[in-house]
Amino acid sequence: MLRAAPLLIFSALSLSCDRLSALDAEQGDPLSKRNRTQLFVGERVPNVPEATVVGAADAPVSRDSSGFKMLIDCEDCPIVFKDEERNRSDRFMTPRLRRSLVQLSKLVSQTWPKVDLRVTEAWDDRREHGAGSVHYEGRAADITTSDQDPAKLGTLAALAVKAGFDWVFYENATHVHVSVKR
Ligand SMILES: [Zn+2]
Repeated sequence: MLRAAPLLIFSALSLSCDRLSALDAEQGDPLSKRNRTQLFVGERVPNVPEATVVGAADAPVSRDSSGFKMLIDCEDCPIVFKDEERNRSDRFMTPRLRRSLVQLSKLVSQTWPKVDLRVTEAWDDRREHGAGSVHYEGRAADITTSDQDPAKLGTLAALAVKAGFDWVFYENATHVHVSVKR
């Protein structure tokens, strides 16, 4: 037993190195990113700060601001909405975000026939996110699958890259964050 231990440690180390070199090889190669079937927790595609891709969130939208007219209600979307706030704000979003969410919902049902895409948060009109969050402009969504199976999130994140979101972040073990340009 004792003699086997160093071997076990060695194989664990070489596994993580393999994973790192695989990640390195993909840096700056959007094509191979699109062909990935899984993302890792904490991984971003593309691997740069969100604001450099989708633009700073400097125009928070409230129900009485002119920006609200630019948001559309994802009323007929084939998506499960958590609607935690009970005010339907999760259903409001920019047309560009809606387009990618609808595309992703198709990929989700092709991948898992009995599962739907679930949105836990999209537009946030209560400022529950951090300063400068893209959620305040209806350009970001937090997503899971309808069965809330955390084991599916790595695949869901890879599907989100294929669905065309401008920035995908496998934020933590409970959800994936996606966002789009204006
Ligand atoms: Zn988010």
